[in-house]
Amino acid sequence: MRILHTTDLHFNKKFFKWIDNQQTNFDIFCITGDFLESSKDESLFDQINWISKWMRSFKKPLFVCSGNHDIEELTNEDWLNKIPNIYSDNSIKKINGVTFGCIPYIALDFLNFNKCDVILNHLPPSNTKTSIHNKDNSDWGDKELSKLLNKNILKPKALLCGHLHHPIEKQHIINNTIIYNCGSNKNLDIPNHSIIDIT
Ligand SMILES: [Zn+2]
Repeated sequence: MRILHTTDLHFNKKFFKWIDNQQTNFDIFCITGDFLESSKDESLFDQINWISKWMRSFKKPLFVCSGNHDIEELTNEDWLNKIPNIYSDNSIKKINGVTFGCIPYIALDFLNFNKCDVILNHLPPSNTKTSIHNKDNSDWGDKELSKLLNKNILKPKALLCGHLHHPIEKQHIINNTIIYNCGSNKNLDIPNHSIIDIT
C-alpha cells in the first residue's frame, strides 16, 4: 500500500489542489494537522467551509488529525470530526491489513493507539531530528510520545507528524518506528510530502 503524507497546509489552496490531483497515484492519504491559518484573508469560518467541502469530495481514504491551528480560537473545534467520509481525530481503522490511528491535538490518550501500524499525531516525539529546528536547534516535540516510543510501549511502523516546519531531517527512527515529518514551506508550489510504502 502506498501512502502520501503531507502536513501543515495552513490553508494554502494550491497545496490542497495538488493533493487532489494525486488521488490516482496513492492508496491512502494522511494529513497531520494545521489545516487552518488565521493570518489569511479568509475568516476561519470560511476556511473550515472550504476545507470541509474539499474533504467531502475526496474519493480515496483520507486520514487526518487536528493541529494546534485547527482548534485555537474556535468554538467549533470538533469541525474535522463532522466531516462524514474521512477518518478524523480518535479514528482507528484497518484497511487491507494495516491499522491507522488518528490522535487528536488535545484530550489525547496515546495508549488507545498501541495496536496501530500507522499513527498520525501533529507533534513529533521530542529529542528527534524530526522535532528539532534546523536553524536554532529548538525542540518542538512531545516528551511523553518520545518516552512511549523509547520504552516500546508505542511501536507503530510509521508515525506521521508535522508542526515543526523546518526539521533537521524528514525522518528519524526509534526502535522499529520510522517517524516522518516532511515539514512545510509555504513558498513552494507543491506541499512537502513523504511517500510511504507499507504492508
Ligand atoms: Zn502546529
